[in-house]
Amino acid sequence: MKTRDRLRIAMQKSGRLTEPALELLKRCGLTFRQSRDKLFCFGEGEPVDLLLVRDDDIPGLIAQGVCDLGIVGRNVLDEYRLTAGRDDAAPLAEWRELGFGRCRLSIAVQQEMDYQGPQQLAGLRIATSYPGLLGEWLRTNGVDASVVTLAGSVEIAPKLGTADLICDLVQSGGTLVANQLRETDVLLESEAVLAGPKALPTDERGDLIELLLKRLDGVIQVRESRLLLLQTSRHTLDAVVRLLPGGPQPTLLPVAGQPDQLMLQALCAGEVSWRELEEIKKAGAREMFVLPVEKMLA
Ligand code: ATP
Ligand code: ZN
Repeated sequence: MKTRDRLRIAMQKSGRLTEPALELLKRCGLTFRQSRDKLFCFGEGEPVDLLLVRDDDIPGLIAQGVCDLGIVGRNVLDEYRLTAGRDDAAPLAEWRELGFGRCRLSIAVQQEMDYQGPQQLAGLRIATSYPGLLGEWLRTNGVDASVVTLAGSVEIAPKLGTADLICDLVQSGGTLVANQLRETDVLLESEAVLAGPKALPTDERGDLIELLLKRLDGVIQVRESRLLLLQTSRHTLDAVVRLLPGGPQPTLLPVAGQPDQLMLQALCAGEVSWRELEEIKKAGAREMFVLPVEKMLA
């Protein structure tokens, strides 16, 4: 088989992950010419193309070597790892967490059930689209329940009488409430990940993947960085600095006409909460600003 010299990334054609995934790739400097059938998008700048598919097909496409990388929910990736046949499929890895598409795979019971713990599920029927992940959880908990595999509309199964409870993805919990269900156990915390083979290709595509991972790290780091600006007097400086959330050493600047005052500038590695700001203020800071970071080249 002729090896490809262009990198191919699989992502969801239309769904929750589509827009954020395209946005992320754009921030990594990748642009695409949309082809007419919209299954394949040719990369214009870098030799990186897109394959737009159903999210469930993404792990298989990578395992078979049709695509080199994929943007897919951890729930789909882990389910594939647990259920796919082992023949000729390359083992897959999570290369990066991407910070969108967050949800959890949870057990939800009917609201009126007096749920005490997994043991109570013995003998009951559980509807799910994730038989692999659910089966593993049941085994871990030593529970013998029957798994009813459904492709969709899992949440209405108890009402229809085809199952006693469900195991499904939950984000806000609104769908559960609307169906008189109550979340009890979380089996998996999920978000979109960059998936790929455990072993990177040894040709040009391996170099391209490394380049892409470096850009991705920059994009993710900037997205999570905040610039904190504040004023403090020299005698409260130490107390203020001690409370700064993570990141490199702060920069100190003099304030014109106020020799006792300093302006402090610090890069923080994540969200700065109101509580943290209030604590820093109590220690002597004033005029505090938290700014998002647009681009960063260290
Ligand atoms: P298709 O199979 O056609 O690609 P889908 O219906 O399986 O689409 P979406 O509903 O778009 O897929 O969900 C894609 C992914 O988004 C899920 O696998 C999951 O990782 C994530 N996700 C985040 N929140 C939710 C949620 N509330 N319900 C379902 N998926 C969610
Ligand atoms: Zn799907």
